[in-house]
Amino acid sequence: MPLPAGVITGLPTAEPVLAWTVDDGSDAEVVRLYIDFARTTGTRLTFFLNGSYPAWSQHARLLQPLVASGQIQLGNHTWSHADLTGLDDAGIVDELQRNHDFIVSTYGIDPRPYYRPPYGYRDGRTDAAAASIGYTCPVMWYGSLADSGLRTDQEIIDLAHRWFQPAHIVIGHLNFLPVTRVFPHLHQLLTDRALTTITLDDLFRA
Ligand SMILES: [Zn+2]
Repeated sequence: MPLPAGVITGLPTAEPVLAWTVDDGSDAEVVRLYIDFARTTGTRLTFFLNGSYPAWSQHARLLQPLVASGQIQLGNHTWSHADLTGLDDAGIVDELQRNHDFIVSTYGIDPRPYYRPPYGYRDGRTDAAAASIGYTCPVMWYGSLADSGLRTDQEIIDLAHRWFQPAHIVIGHLNFLPVTRVFPHLHQLLTDRALTTITLDDLFRA
């Protein structure tokens, strides 16, 4: 389907699909384990990465084939996880462009038009500055594993039970290990609910 104009917070479909998106990448081991989870289960994921974290260079050879096949989509999350609303227009463009250039040179794909504003902080001005370099689609979410900070295994399981629902965009993070310990549980939950994971490119024609 055509990509709707502007911000998206969910998937405009009646199909039993879930967009499982994960951000940042401050812990390289978590990044490696998420890639491994995708490889072994076929789960389709979208990574909104900050190129300033070493994990994205360190694990590029492991991740690149999954990016090339389309199983893992890469989106822009700014270079240094900046609050875009606190930057002037040139600063917004710099943050997105630096990360864009890193993704293009490291992974050989163009992540436009998808980006996720750090902390979800955005407004009409930041949208316009991002759109000036082709980032026309801020990707928000409707449901979170809440693991940008450290959570317990059980908290993550409980949030997955709450938010792994049809047509949802769910946000998680590549920052702390607990989510990697509950991968088997989360994968079983998808199976039990007959949910198919998809990337944004699987659904939208940008
Ligand atoms: Zn983030």
